[in-house]
Amino acid sequence: MLLLIVSVVLVGFVGAGLAGITITVFLHRGLTHGAITLPGPVYSFGRWMTWSTTFMRHWEWRRVHRKHHLYVDTWIDDVRHDPHSPIVISQREGINGFRRVAWHMAGIFHAEARLPDVVDGTYELPTDRPLDRLDMTLFNRPVLGAVTAGVVYAVGLAVLVPLILGRHRSAGFEALCLLGGVVALAVHIGLVLRFGGAINSDCHKGKESTPGAGFALNVGRLSFLIFGEGEHLTHHLHPQLAQISRRWDLGWRVIQVLRALRLTSVAAERSQVLVTVS
Ligand SMILES: [Zn+2]
Ligand SMILES: [Zn+2]
Repeated sequence: MLLLIVSVVLVGFVGAGLAGITITVFLHRGLTHGAITLPGPVYSFGRWMTWSTTFMRHWEWRRVHRKHHLYVDTWIDDVRHDPHSPIVISQREGINGFRRVAWHMAGIFHAEARLPDVVDGTYELPTDRPLDRLDMTLFNRPVLGAVTAGVVYAVGLAVLVPLILGRHRSAGFEALCLLGGVVALAVHIGLVLRFGGAINSDCHKGKESTPGAGFALNVGRLSFLIFGEGEHLTHHLHPQLAQISRRWDLGWRVIQVLRALRLTSVAAERSQVLVTVS
């Protein structure tokens, strides 16, 4: 039983890890900021990974995040504002905005994605690939992506766990494994939400505002947990850099592998732009 629980948690962590890599490399550095090129096969793979591990629409992520950069930590009106600034939420709603962003990014994100400027493509660039039929028919259904991941987890656990444990199959144990798939999906989603929230909460706790970067802050030690996204102030000031953090940038390691395989190229080298800190 203990091994089944460990397997379930492990599956959830692996799924969340894949989602984290997809978010930082594909959605954030590639699709949104163009810090790495996304040739056809990489773009296709990234879209599939977004659908099956992050359960979000890739174009909504791109638009909402560009809006965050544009209005960072400011509020002009109900449409023109930072979508998830803990500072603005604290000031406007009189609540702890950092806690809200840290734990409720899904609700914040989906409310923002329904606003007219996000829907009408205000934040799209001429270089963005237009949405195609696959986007409209499949990737437009993020809940289906989550259900698919849950089914894959449940079936995978039901098939593999009895083999690994050397146990005879029984209806009760199989049912337990299927239930384990649901729990693994919950672990996966919970981790993605919490660590995504950490970037937008913990990394916007600066004591003073920096022009163009709001209250963004470099929290280097967080990079280990959020795949290199910890140097958030550096990122706001230089979003074109494929390498965000100097240390513990797992996303950058993945990009280096993709580059060695000639699957991507990098817009600008951190070592050339940030001569003094690299
Ligand atoms: Zn930010
Ligand atoms: Zn960004």
